[in-house]
Parts: sequence; C-alpha cells; structure tokens
Amino acid sequence: MSHHEVLLVVGAGHAGAELAIQAREHGWPGRIVLVGDEPALPYHRPPLSKGYLSGEATLDSVALKSRATYDKAGVELMLGRRVASIDRHAARVTFIDGQALHYATLALATGGRPRRLPAAAEGAEQADNFHYLRTLADVDRIRARLVHGSRLAIVGGGYIGLEVAAVATRMGLTVTVLEAADRVLARVTAPRVSSFYEQVHRQAGVDLRTGVQVDGFALDTARRLVTEVHCSDGERVRTDVVIAGIGLVPDTDLAAAAGLDVEDGILVDACSRTSDPAIFAAGDCTRYESPLYGRRIRLESVPNALEQARCAAATLCGKERRHDGVPWFWSDQYDLKMKMVGLSQGHDRLVLRGSIEERSFCAFYLQGSRVLAVDTVNRIPEFMLSKRLVAERLPVDPERLADDSVPLKNQIAA
Ligand SMILES: Cc1cc2nc3c(=O)[nH]c(=O)nc-3n(C[C@H](O)[C@H](O)[C@H](O)COP(=O)(O)OP(=O)(O)OC[C@H]3O[C@@H](n4cnc5c(N)ncnc54)[C@H](O)[C@@H]3O)c2cc1C
Repeated sequence: MSHHEVLLVVGAGHAGAELAIQAREHGWPGRIVLVGDEPALPYHRPPLSKGYLSGEATLDSVALKSRATYDKAGVELMLGRRVASIDRHAARVTFIDGQALHYATLALATGGRPRRLPAAAEGAEQADNFHYLRTLADVDRIRARLVHGSRLAIVGGGYIGLEVAAVATRMGLTVTVLEAADRVLARVTAPRVSSFYEQVHRQAGVDLRTGVQVDGFALDTARRLVTEVHCSDGERVRTDVVIAGIGLVPDTDLAAAAGLDVEDGILVDACSRTSDPAIFAAGDCTRYESPLYGRRIRLESVPNALEQARCAAATLCGKERRHDGVPWFWSDQYDLKMKMVGLSQGHDRLVLRGSIEERSFCAFYLQGSRVLAVDTVNRIPEFMLSKRLVAERLPVDPERLADDSVPLKNQIAA
C-alpha cells in the first residue's frame, strides 16, 4: 500500500481515537495510524479527577475502546511515541527518535497541557509532592500521596480543583482551595451558582479561600518537598501535597512550527479543516468556527472533542460534515451532578428554576427571550430539554421559566 493512502492521526486522546475509528467507518481505504505519546491505551480523562482519583474506577474501566476494537477497524496503534515535527512539503512527520512516516492526510488531536503556575517555576515544580493533573501518570503519582489525615493544598477553584477537593475530602484529607478570583468557577458560571458551590464545599469541610494569589512556596530541598504555600496577603498554608489546576494551554506547537494558522488553538472550520487541505485538527487543541455562535470558539470538553473528530472523519472521507452542535460539559462533585449547555457570554438576565437549598435547580442565561446557556444541577431530564432550548434557539417566557410547577417540556411545546 502506498503512503498516499495513509491517514496519520497525531494524539491518542478522545478526539484522536474517535477520529481514527470513525474514518474507517466512513470508508477510509488505506492504513490508519494513531500515534500517542502516552503509553496507555487511549482513555477517558474525566475520571482522573473523579472515580479514578478516588480508586473507584480502574485502568481497564477508563479505556475508551478495547484493543480489539482498534484491531477490528484496522487502526494501527503507535503508543509511547511522540511526533517532533511535520514537513508539509514532503507530507511526512518525524518522531523524536528520528524515524519518519509519510501521510496522505494528517489529523492533529494533540489536546493541551496544564497551564503552569508562575510561582512554582522557582523550584516547587520539581518537588515530589507538587502536581499538575492531566494524565493517568499524573494521577498515579497523586494517588500515592492522598493519604487519610494528610493536608492537601489545591491552587485553582475551577472544575478540576473542585472535583479533586470533593474526592480528597471524602478520603479524609484536610483540604484547602486557593482561588485567585473573587469566586470559584468564575470563568464559566454565574455568581449565584458559584456561591452555591462554595457553600457546598465549605459544608463538606473544605477550607475554601477566594481572592487569594499564590506567590511562592517553602521547600524542604533535602527531601524534595513543598512544605508551605505562600499567598500574596502574607498567609502561609502548611501542606503535604499541592495540586495546581489553573487551566489549559492548547498544544499547538507542532502546528505552529509547520506554519498552520494558529491563534489560541489551531484554527479550523466547522468541518475541522485547518489552513492546509491535507491536515485536519480536532479537540482541545483547536479553535473552530461555530455556526451556532457565529464566531470562533475553543472548548475543553469531551463532547466537543468527539463531535469535531466525527466531522473531521466524515469530511476527510469526502462526506462533508459540519459541527453545529451545542457545547456541553459536566462536572461531578459530592452528590451533585452538574451539566451545562451553551455559552453564557452576553446574557442579560439569569433565571433560576427549582431549589438551590434542595440542591436541585437550573440556571438559565437569557439574552432577551433567547436561552444562551443553562446550568443544571441534579436535573437530568431538564438538561435534555435545555439542550433543545439552546440548540434550536427556542424563545421562552422568563416568568414561566422560573415557575417550577409548570413542566419545562410544556413551556417548550408552547
Ligand atoms: C482531570 C480532568 C477532568 C476532566 N473532566 C471533564 C468532564 O467532566 N467533562 C468533560 O467534558 N471534559 C472533561 N475534561 C476535559 C476533557 O478531558 C478534554 O476536553 C478531552 O480530553 C479533550 O480530548 P483531546 O483528544 O482533544 O485531547 P487529550 O485528551 O488531551 O489527548 C491528546 C493526546 O495527544 C497526545 N499528544 C500531544 N502531542 C503529541 C505529539 N506530538 N505526539 C504524540 N502524541 C501527542 C497527548 O499526550 C494526549 O495523550 C477533563 C479533563 C481533565 C484533565
């Protein structure tokens, strides 16, 4: 078989694995090679801060697909291998060991890496008890240190930080969360929802501090350990383990070095095409043209990675498919199942439905009578309806929306 038929997928995460398998389903005739630098079979990342961290999920249970599924689809796995560069002119990638592989079509699904904490660059990052959380290997190291009675300092009150706080508290650690903004989840949710989550964590025993900037660490260099987290207000937090969860940087280095258009993500259209017709990209590493929002957006979520991968797979097999779905995301903390749909930027009104006290509610972000986004907490049926509200831009009556005695489905039908 000539290299003209090789589909080469770089990055074996949610997007890469889905793209490779789907390309076969759509009839890709030649070799499909899926390259990933992690040694494990492609796996679900969300359990890393939930069930896998707590020990409830096993390595087998987090695998995205079995090895047999790749074999059956004729997808060749090259795991534990890192691509170092792309030569677009020669249609070839080179691995860090110097080997090279030609492609007919290339797909980049390189994901992202944790944003590094500037205050940790001085030496804390080298300590054995300082961690970022993105990979199985990270969590295997972290788990060894999550011991009942230990002190855990979490830098960042976003989803990852809060999910870890919930798990670690249940495991009997003493947990402190340090968040620089004046509320948790500030980037993604309304103040009312943030304050609900803050209250839940405090009730569970988490020492949650907002408006706190971490500006340094005390180190026991002999034992390679962080012993204290230093805050700019002079506070010193003694600790046994530190986890920093302060966001993600899209992995665009390969694409940028190869001259593809990159701007806080590899730029792709709604069909996951990059600026080179032979190269596609999907998942956390991209910023895509959203037909729904009429602008480019970068999302860090599994549903987005899967949908972009499906669009890429179909399109590169000649069956053009546009990603016009709604963004959605979930987060599990304690007994709270939160699901969010849509992007709330630009909303002019927040409508609450249900009961915050009873931990069962929806928060609707409205722009006029259009629902831009919805956060649902322990309201799975209403999440499904909310998805329709956002996707189909169905108009709503804000007063009726707040009335929990009128089923949401009746309001949609009206
Ligand atoms: C702890 C945690 C919890 C999360 N929880 C949720 C959740 O509850 N819900 C949700 O929707 N999303 C969640 N996410 C986000 C979700 O996991 C990501 O959006 C998703 O993994 C993106 O998939 P991806 O394939 O784009 O990237 P990734 O899963 O990051 O995969 C990219 C892969 O490419 C590899 N790679 C990069 N460069 C190269 C190279 N040059 N050569 C070879 N391989 C390379 C990387 O090592 C990685 O294995 C969570 C993420 C984390 C870290």
